[in-house]
Amino acid sequence: MLLGCAMLAVAISAPRPDQKLPFVERCYVLGSVEQGVTNVVVQGVDVPVYKTGAWAAYVDVAEGENTITAVCDGPDGRSEATRRFTVAARPKPKAETANDGKPADPVQYKKLEYAGDFPRSHPSAKTPGELTVVVDPGHGGKADKGCISPHGWFEKDANLLLAEAVREELVKLGYRVVLTRRNDREIKIYDRPKAIYAVGGDAFISIHHNSPPLNRDASVLRYAAVYSWNPLGDAMARAIAKRMDDVQRSEMKSNGAMHANFAVIRNPEIPSCLIEADFITHPAGEEAAWDPVRRQKLAEAIAAGFSDWHKGVPE
Ligand SMILES: [Zn+2]
Repeated sequence: MLLGCAMLAVAISAPRPDQKLPFVERCYVLGSVEQGVTNVVVQGVDVPVYKTGAWAAYVDVAEGENTITAVCDGPDGRSEATRRFTVAARPKPKAETANDGKPADPVQYKKLEYAGDFPRSHPSAKTPGELTVVVDPGHGGKADKGCISPHGWFEKDANLLLAEAVREELVKLGYRVVLTRRNDREIKIYDRPKAIYAVGGDAFISIHHNSPPLNRDASVLRYAAVYSWNPLGDAMARAIAKRMDDVQRSEMKSNGAMHANFAVIRNPEIPSCLIEADFITHPAGEEAAWDPVRRQKLAEAIAAGFSDWHKGVPE
């Protein structure tokens, strides 16, 4: 039997239904159409459609209730999708005297309670077979899906696919690899770096995909970056970012190795980094993340960068 109704040609994945956004004046809207349909109009404005059918629009919004409408003319006639969400009221300006004009106190970040104080020595004296790499696919489970792509795919799934590919490539190079999760399950944020101590790990690589702030244009923002917290992680992050850039350079810029205070990499004694491989909110980033050939190339680059760092290949 044929399906009783024609497939809905146009769909909106973000904002989520009934999502409550903080105060913004513009926000991005993500969606998809059947492949081959190219005339998508969001809030009266034509939106470019990528070959996968993904699109990203950037629209004006107002405080309170908003309704966004996307329309397209497909093979089955006109299709329309609407999405309702709310935008918080504009925050009141803070009183001038709040901090007396003095700079705010620096934020104190708590150290991981199970971590030691000093960096371990660089593991270059070990052979690959003596070295255990903990690869951490970011997010997971029902409550922590990460960001969403135009087709409504979740970051947690993109992270797991890339992490599994990275594991395979590191294994080919002779390394022992442990994944913090091998399926769609939730892991508490501090349990991720803790896994290093359970398995006697030597290095930690967390794998993520990025999304812009709500009030930025998702059809524009796309870059790769590798974050670390201390010099031990920074050397590894630089080596990995360099190899990733060889694969991604033709499509987007690399922000290279950057410093960040993310909880999973705030580990004084274990070389740790967090890879933001791409923006799955960008239609081309979504396509790259779900292309197995491209994913394989990126995984090879990440593994090669790790190996460069381990062997002490000069930059
Ligand atoms: Zn993430």
